[in-house]
Amino acid sequence: MNKPTRQKPTTSSIGMKGLVFEEPLLFEMGSPGRTAFSLPKYDVPEVALEATLPAAEIRNPIENFPELSELDVVRHFTRLSQWNFSIDTNFYPLGSCTMKYNPKVNNEVASLPGFAQHHPYTPDSLSQGSIQLMFELQEYLKEISGMDHVSLQPAAGAQGELTGMLMIHAYHAAQGVQRKKIILPDSAHGTNPATANLCGYSVIQIQSDERGLIDPGKLESVMDEETAAIMLTNPNTLGMFETDILKIAEIVHKKGGLVYCDGANLNAVMGKTKIKTMGVDVLHFNLHKTFSTPHGGGGPGSGPVGIIDKLAPFLPVPLVEHTDGKYRLNYDRPESIGKMKSFFGNFGILVRAYTYIRSLGPEGIKQVSEMAVLNANYIKSSLKEYFNLPYDGHSLHECVFNDKHQLKNNVSTMDIAKILIDYGFHPPTVYFPLIVKGALMIEPTETESKETIDGFITAMKEIAKLAETNPEIFHDAPMIPVSSRLDEINAARNPKLKWKPAA
Ligand SMILES: *Cc1c(COP(=O)(O)O)cnc(C)c1O
Repeated sequence: MNKPTRQKPTTSSIGMKGLVFEEPLLFEMGSPGRTAFSLPKYDVPEVALEATLPAAEIRNPIENFPELSELDVVRHFTRLSQWNFSIDTNFYPLGSCTMKYNPKVNNEVASLPGFAQHHPYTPDSLSQGSIQLMFELQEYLKEISGMDHVSLQPAAGAQGELTGMLMIHAYHAAQGVQRKKIILPDSAHGTNPATANLCGYSVIQIQSDERGLIDPGKLESVMDEETAAIMLTNPNTLGMFETDILKIAEIVHKKGGLVYCDGANLNAVMGKTKIKTMGVDVLHFNLHKTFSTPHGGGGPGSGPVGIIDKLAPFLPVPLVEHTDGKYRLNYDRPESIGKMKSFFGNFGILVRAYTYIRSLGPEGIKQVSEMAVLNANYIKSSLKEYFNLPYDGHSLHECVFNDKHQLKNNVSTMDIAKILIDYGFHPPTVYFPLIVKGALMIEPTETESKETIDGFITAMKEIAKLAETNPEIFHDAPMIPVSSRLDEINAARNPKLKWKPAA
């Protein structure tokens, strides 16, 4: 096996030899006097800037300010934009994140002027179509989850958690006695304990059992009347179904607690089962995962929350309603937890999710889950001889390996993730969930073809072999990109956010 190599390009060869991911700073380009525009000669007398503007409004000259043409700037930014690794360009097997392909028709519909240019202050009477879309999306999410009510307001999964947790808080307050604790399994996503803390609860963590699941016996020993809720994820972050979910819900309900389900993994079960039937009282959805909206890069998300009837008085305002043949936004809700997001949430994302659900239909939604589970299990069974599987139960839409075998040759999960970049794949999620030491969490989603998945499996097998034969090369990986192994700790602790001219 040969080490991959790269020819280092010179600045003048940019754009001459295929794709070169190397680009000077704008400050290193241009030449004095070059500008992005040319104007006709003045036909009026010239006046000094100082005579027309107050001194404070006039910019001081900037040293070494780049002087560039429009084309210099356009090419610079266009080249940079092409360096993005995206779901439109490559396989992105980031576990828990559900990085699946976002059909372009979603964008097409969200860009229709009637939606995209609809001002949020337009009165309800002139917004019937947009409100109808929100109402119907709520209905679809209710149908998919079985929940009795849905609010579309939260802007992300984590904000959905906060919304749900505030409703749980309001519910217990209305019972007359506030509770103090939230129970969480140790496999929980980091946003779960953060949310519980933000609402003033203390977090009681329970250890997963040898199956990687919640042990009802352990839960029973900590569940009491001071506990407001359990927050669990089903399927959990190992991609495994909590088989004792009914028992778990019963234990929590018996002591007056509520069951919160983190629904970020709905991609594995939608169309196959309804989360409410598992005894769940509150559920959040990640529209930007399961319902195919681009995410990552800080783009807007959407994390609707579904609840059972008894929490309905606390839903955020406005409530999207359909009464007497009219769609309306109801703000008159005295027990509501209030507003969670400006206007009605990230409306553009709602249009995308609506389009996605409508274009798939009930059969398509079911097929999504089936294909997602099939793909993950194909990867799992193809790689289990090569990588250690700490929990070998039934997996659904993702599988979690670790670096136990490779560590014998001093090759770690980080090394494996980095060398995957040389093979042209985005690394999977690493070092999460925390209960798996050196976790490599792979989620292929349903949108990948067998060829792509086979390519990934082949790369992973080659990497496992390289770890036996050439373990030393891993420490330089990735070798092909211009920036190879970065000093990640230094980058996080001492970020350089400002360009300084060379002295
Ligand atoms: C992504 C994710 C979240 C948080 O969702 P955001 O939209 O990123 O805030 C919560 N729980 C799980 C299991 C997730 O995968």
